[in-house]
Amino acid sequence: MIEKARVLIDIGFCDRCLGRFFSGMGHGISNPDRGKALRTYISMLDGETPEYLESCELCGDVFRNIERKVDLLENASKGIDFSTFLIGSRFDKDVLEREREVSERLGLEGESIKVEFNRILGKAFEKRSGKLFSREQPDIEFLYDTRYEDVKVQINPVYIYGRYRKLTRGIPQTRWPCRHCGGKGCEHCNHTGKMYSESVEELIAHEFMLELLGKEHAFHGMGREDIDARMLGNGRPFVLEIKEPRKREVDLEEMEKRVNEFAQGKVEVHGLRLSSKEEIRRIKASRAEKTYVVYVRLEPDVEEEKLKNALGMLEGEIAQRTPKRVSHRRADMVRKRRAISLKLLEKDDRKAAIEVRAEAGLYIKELMHGDEGRTKPSLSEILGVECAVEALDVMEIDSKEE
Ligand SMILES: [Zn+2]
Ligand SMILES: [Zn+2]
Repeated sequence: MIEKARVLIDIGFCDRCLGRFFSGMGHGISNPDRGKALRTYISMLDGETPEYLESCELCGDVFRNIERKVDLLENASKGIDFSTFLIGSRFDKDVLEREREVSERLGLEGESIKVEFNRILGKAFEKRSGKLFSREQPDIEFLYDTRYEDVKVQINPVYIYGRYRKLTRGIPQTRWPCRHCGGKGCEHCNHTGKMYSESVEELIAHEFMLELLGKEHAFHGMGREDIDARMLGNGRPFVLEIKEPRKREVDLEEMEKRVNEFAQGKVEVHGLRLSSKEEIRRIKASRAEKTYVVYVRLEPDVEEEKLKNALGMLEGEIAQRTPKRVSHRRADMVRKRRAISLKLLEKDDRKAAIEVRAEAGLYIKELMHGDEGRTKPSLSEILGVECAVEALDVMEIDSKEE
């Protein structure tokens, strides 16, 4: 070890850099102190006075004027609401290359210059700002470029979990760019860039954007219902993502009221709470069972008993080739999903309301009309009559994870 330290001293590394290469030894000692102790000890052995270094062959002056660097962070984060932060940094590639070369040659595995820099700067900024350094889900992330003394700040999103009910038909879940112009705005879309003037996403996000001063938003639903289907019952879980918010403090009870007032009669939310990026993954991976009510029109009419029997026969595995209506955006394939139970709720002349409970991913409309034989079996096939779907509502999404 003494030999290795001697090599580093000869190259012209400062106490801090010297100490950092041996950071595995002597816990609770700072890198400069450890380096200084090593240098003093080696000078003693050699009978010399330890040399004071004006500049370092590795770190140059990046660790100097830390308070000035803290000023830069302070400036960059002015006007942004945050309580936790993370620091990342960029270094000249020659510095990193030299560090790697030396540690490989001498077989040393100390802390890296980047990690120490981020730590030192983070501590200093913590002290000045009263904010907390955090690795997990920090509110903002600084990127400090040591080459140009330049700071960039990334504001991380605020995530809000909740459940929504969609009370009217004809609203898509997310913004749907205009098919003609791709979102730029044209005559077809009345220069809105959208196929539909409203979406569940926009109706929910509106008040949050005003409150949190976000730049953009994204919406992550646990699946989605058709545009013409309502979403009733306990609602569908979602995570709303407000990107680059300049404010983060939010009273969710108050927001629930505001959203529900703004989206009145169209969309309703409940159970709002703060969420995370991880939860989006969980929501997307969910295979929750669902309950629907589907309204069909039988042509010609059949007797109630016959209909009930047919519904019983549909329970079980259903083979569905990708429906025609979605085949332009999904691969053509056959998949199998279970229809768990089917129950006749009401029959009035040729119209029937049927409750269907199904495994995630079963296409309910196709289960009724058969999609020209692409779904097997189907109600239409079993009854031997046409079963046109007039309306569909999602009643319940069985997700227990809250
Ligand atoms: Zn140094
Ligand atoms: Zn357009």
